[in-house]
Amino acid sequence: MPLLRLILGDQLSHTISSLEDIDIRQDVVLICEVMEEATYVPHHPKKIAFLFSAMRHFAQELQVRGVSVRYVKLDDEANTGSFDGEVKRAVEALKPQKLVVTEPGEYRVLTKMHSWDKLFSIPVEIRTDERFLATGKEFGAWAKGKKQLRMEFFYREMRKKYRILMEADGKPTGGQWNYDKENRKTPKAAMAFPKRLSHHKSAITEDVLAIVSKRFSNHFGRLEPFHYAVNRDQALAELDHFIKEILPSFGDYQDAMLSREPFLYHSLLSSYLNAGLLLPLEICQRAEAAYRSGKAPLNSVEGFIRQILGWREYIRGIYWQFMPEYGQRNDLQAKLPLPDFYWTGQTQMFCMQEVISQTRDHAYSHHIQRLMITGNFALLAGLDVKEVQQWYLAVYSDAYEWVEMPNTLGMALFGDGGVVASKPYAASGKYINRMSNFCDSCAYDPDSMTGEKACPFNALYWDFLVRHEEKLRGNQRMPFVYATWNKFSADKQKAIRKQARKHLERMINGQL
Ligand SMILES: Cc1cc2nc3c(=O)[nH]c(=O)nc-3n(C[C@H](O)[C@H](O)[C@H](O)COP(=O)(O)OP(=O)(O)OC[C@H]3O[C@@H](n4cnc5c(N)ncnc54)[C@H](O)[C@@H]3O)c2cc1C
Ligand code: SF4
Repeated sequence: MPLLRLILGDQLSHTISSLEDIDIRQDVVLICEVMEEATYVPHHPKKIAFLFSAMRHFAQELQVRGVSVRYVKLDDEANTGSFDGEVKRAVEALKPQKLVVTEPGEYRVLTKMHSWDKLFSIPVEIRTDERFLATGKEFGAWAKGKKQLRMEFFYREMRKKYRILMEADGKPTGGQWNYDKENRKTPKAAMAFPKRLSHHKSAITEDVLAIVSKRFSNHFGRLEPFHYAVNRDQALAELDHFIKEILPSFGDYQDAMLSREPFLYHSLLSSYLNAGLLLPLEICQRAEAAYRSGKAPLNSVEGFIRQILGWREYIRGIYWQFMPEYGQRNDLQAKLPLPDFYWTGQTQMFCMQEVISQTRDHAYSHHIQRLMITGNFALLAGLDVKEVQQWYLAVYSDAYEWVEMPNTLGMALFGDGGVVASKPYAASGKYINRMSNFCDSCAYDPDSMTGEKACPFNALYWDFLVRHEEKLRGNQRMPFVYATWNKFSADKQKAIRKQARKHLERMINGQL
């Protein structure tokens, strides 16, 4: 009797555990495009097109290998529109002995999977996702008994485990674990940034683009132009291009932001990595090899590897360690509705305009923009954490709950009470002005705290700190900011808080 092997849209790796022992003479692989998954948040059309096209290419590669694939297209008449419905149909049609899956990236889907044995009267084997470099068990063992789960210490363990950037004597390469201090250079607008690859659109991609344009035109985001890699060969070409042309400068400008330059020296690999077209270990090994052969400096290579071997694995560990309670947290009681400008970009704040329009065009925005512009604003204004999370989950082509939620709720919104971040990533217009050229084009003045032209980030920054003083004052990294606030005269403090209220009123009335 055949086994039915289910592959999800972010499981497009030929080495995935659910395919490990496949018997191509009888087993069937089920891959399905379902409306429920494409719409439970209004995903960016580029993200839907990328995933559907990558799924269809993956199915084709399996078929070339002789694997029997049951592929359900979005527009197939019998498509029930949900995983439950498609698994049920496949079980009824094929009568498999067992259903084999690899654990999904979302708690919601795992809950569904746990119900399938009873629902469909079939044994369900849920296998570990071995593409990740730390299992949930390993993360749990590391986290056990620790008061604070700091990424830096987890990262060092991962460096040792995988012997990445380690010397024979057990010391980190170059003598330091972290070279972040060298990674904060300010870029100049006149710098020439590397051109990005644009991939040939196959007939499969053209078909998918037609469907997505017809069915999802009401979702936020531009579908065309569409340049994404959609299969492993193209994703490997992206990796190659990054390692050769971009990695050497990755570190220096990691925290920088420039208008009309959405990519700078970032890798743009997250969508391919999260969907399974690339694997984390191969990326880290390629980056290390570039350093060892003298093609990229240590600050860039270490900084890049830390993002993948450290941050990415740590974030996943946090998600599975604390779900489902984690998803209900809102420790700062942030409840204001998400303003419309997150969907339209229509605000006078140039930094927000810029990041939102880059997001609309590319389904991408680099880390510091997600954190210090759209995330920082949501934190300072006290926007509803659920609405903000849904926005991030919808608009980025690399977004899946396991990685989006701890980054948004924990890192950007400090809504998990400090599990991920040791202090809130709150910043005023001064920081944004230092790290970007956005303020040069803005209707607001980053140096003004009060008045018509005052940058909203300034008063909102202080207002946020005062609103949450009780929770934050005890934080070891905060006394300095509260000492500064206390040096302000009572009149100045009053004027700042009044200005913050005005900004929030204008935000609510769509005038900010
Ligand atoms: C509010 C917020 C929401 C985010 N949502 C997502 C998300 O849904 N999906 C996602 O993949 N990343 C998310 N991130 C993390 C990070 O912003 C993206 O991974 C990164 O911008 C992807 O672009 P890149 O491939 O060019 O990254 P690079 O800057 O080139 O970094 C290299 C790689 O490191 C990994 N990485 C770096 N930082 C993180 C991080 N904090 N968490 C996990 N992986 C990391 C990514 O795989 C990335 O491809 C979020 C960050 C914030 C602040
Ligand atoms: S002045 Fe303020 S709102 Fe305008 S771009 Fe600068 S930080 Fe953003």
